[in-house]
Amino acid sequence: MSEAVGTLLLRAEDRRLAGDYRGGCAIAEEAATLAGATGDSAGQAAALRSYANQLLRLGRQEDAIAACREAVAILEFRGDEYAICEVLTVLAMSLNDLGMHQEALEALARGRDIAQRLGENGLLFWVHNRTGVVHGSMGDHELSTHYLMRALTMAEGMDAEARFCILNNVGDNGVYEVQRLRSLGEFAAADRTLAKALDCVIEALSLARAADHPFRQSISLDNLGMLRALSGDLDAAAELIEQSRQIAVTGGYRSLELAALRHLARVRLMRGQSADAIVGLTEALRCALDAGEKPMAMEIHHELSLAYEETGDFGAALAHYRSFHELEREAHNDTAAARARMAVHHFELDNARLEAENARLEAELERTRNAELAADNVLWQRQAAEDALTGLPNRRSVDQRLPELAAAGHPFCVAVADVDHFKKVNDEHGHLIGDEVLRRMAAVLQENLRDTDLVARFGGEEFLIAFNAVDVATARMQCELLRAQIAGYPWDNVQPGLNVTISLGLAEIRPGTSVAEGLARADERLYAAKRAGRNQVCCG
Ligand code: GH3
Ligand code: MG
Ligand code: MG
Repeated sequence: MSEAVGTLLLRAEDRRLAGDYRGGCAIAEEAATLAGATGDSAGQAAALRSYANQLLRLGRQEDAIAACREAVAILEFRGDEYAICEVLTVLAMSLNDLGMHQEALEALARGRDIAQRLGENGLLFWVHNRTGVVHGSMGDHELSTHYLMRALTMAEGMDAEARFCILNNVGDNGVYEVQRLRSLGEFAAADRTLAKALDCVIEALSLARAADHPFRQSISLDNLGMLRALSGDLDAAAELIEQSRQIAVTGGYRSLELAALRHLARVRLMRGQSADAIVGLTEALRCALDAGEKPMAMEIHHELSLAYEETGDFGAALAHYRSFHELEREAHNDTAAARARMAVHHFELDNARLEAENARLEAELERTRNAELAADNVLWQRQAAEDALTGLPNRRSVDQRLPELAAAGHPFCVAVADVDHFKKVNDEHGHLIGDEVLRRMAAVLQENLRDTDLVARFGGEEFLIAFNAVDVATARMQCELLRAQIAGYPWDNVQPGLNVTISLGLAEIRPGTSVAEGLARADERLYAAKRAGRNQVCCG
C-alpha cells in the first residue's frame, strides 16, 4: 500500500472510530480513488472496506454493497482471502439492512469457510457475530442468541471495538429474546436472559464511554433503556433512552434517533400513557418517512395501531394497520428493486473484471509471442551461421569473417585442413562413425586454437582455420601441432581400428591482397600435401 493512501486510510479509520462516519466516508472515498488511479490495489481494497463500513452507518446500504463487491473483486485478483473475509462481514450487514437476509447469510457462509480454512479466530468471531445479527433481523432470536454467544466466548483478547460490538449485540438481542420467552411463559429463562443482557450492555456502555465514542454510547444507552424497561424500571428506562436520542441527534445518527423515539413511546405505553406514546410515535413516524426508512416506518405504524387500540380509537388503529400493510408490500417491492439494481451492478463488475483479465492475458500472450519471435530470430541467425553437425561456424560465416580479418590491417594466415581418405572411413566404419570423426575433429581443432583464431567447417571433411595476427612461421607451427594432435588422437576409442589423419595447406594473406586468392593458394598447397603423402602441412 502506498504511503499517501495509507495516511488517508488512517485518517478515515480515525473518523470512523470517533463515530464521524460522514467525515470518514469522504476521506475513505478519496483514498480509494487515489489508490485506484495509482494502481495500488491493496490500498484500494482497504479503502473500499472502510468506505463501505461507514456508508452502512449512514444508511447508504446500496453504495456500501457496491463498494464491498468491488473490494472483493480486487482481493480475489490479489488472492487475499483474509481481507476478503473481512469485507464479507461488512457486505453481510449491508445486505441484511436491505432485507436481503438470504444473501447476507450466503456471504457469511463464505466468510466462515475462509475463516475456518485460515484458522483465524478473529475472523470467525466477526462471522459468528454478524450471523447472529442476521438471524435476529429475520426474527429468529433463539438462533441469534446461539451465534452471538459463540462469538461472545471468542471475544476475549479482541480489540475494544469487537468487544463492544458483541456485548451490545447480545444486549440488543436480549430485548427481543426476553419478550419471546415471556410470551411462551418461560419466565425463569427470560429472567436469566435479561440478567445476562443487562451485564453485557452495561459493560458495552462503559467501553463506549472509555473510547469516547458517541455512536456506541447512543446505541448501548438505548439498549440499556429497553432492558431496564423490561425489568420494570420505567423511569430509568425513559431517562437512558432520552440520553441516547440526544447523542443521536448531535451525531446525525438518524436510525438511532428513530429507534430512541420509538422506544420512548414504548415506555410510555408500558406506563399506560397511551396519548403521550401516540404523540411520540407520530413524530417518529414522520422522521422515518422523511428518511425513507420503510421497515422502521412499518414497525411504527404497527405500534401506533396498538396504541390507538389501547385508547379505544379503533378507526385510527385500523388506518395504521392498513398503512402498515401498504408499506410492507412496498418494502417487498423495494427489496426486489434493490436486488435488481444489485444484480446489474454485480454483472457490470464481473464484466469489468473479465475485460481486465482478458486484456492482461492478451498483453501476456503478446509478450510471450514477442519473446518467442526474438528467440526464434536468434536461433535462425545462429542456424544460418552455424554448421549443424559440428557446431562450428559454417562457410557462410567464413565468407563474412575473413574480409573482416583482412580489413583489420595486419597480416594473417589461413589453412585448409582436409581429412585424409575420409571416403574410406565412411566405407569401412559407416557414415555415423564418419560424422563422429568430424565432430571430434572440430573439438580438437577448437581446443588447440586461441579465441582470436577462427575455425570453421568449410564443407564436407574440410575445415578452414584463420590464424589471426601471426606470421607464417608461427602459423606453420600451429598447423603442425594440430596435425600431430589429430594423428595422435585415441581414435581407437571411437571405433577399434579407426585411424584419422589430416593434411593442411597454409597461406598468408597480407593487407591489401585478395582473400579469395589467399584461399586458393592454401587450397593448392593442401593438394600438394596430399600428393606428398598426406598427414602433413604444406606452406609453399
Ligand atoms: P583424400 O584423402 O584425397 O581427401 O580422400 P577422401 O576420401 O577424404 O576424399 P573424397 O573427396 O574422395 O571423399 C570425401 C568423402 O567425405 C566423401 C563424402 O561422402 C564424405 N563426406 C563429406 N561430408 C560428410 C559428412 O558430413 N559425413 C560423413 N560421414 N561423410 C562425409
Ligand atoms: Mg579428404
Ligand atoms: Mg575433401
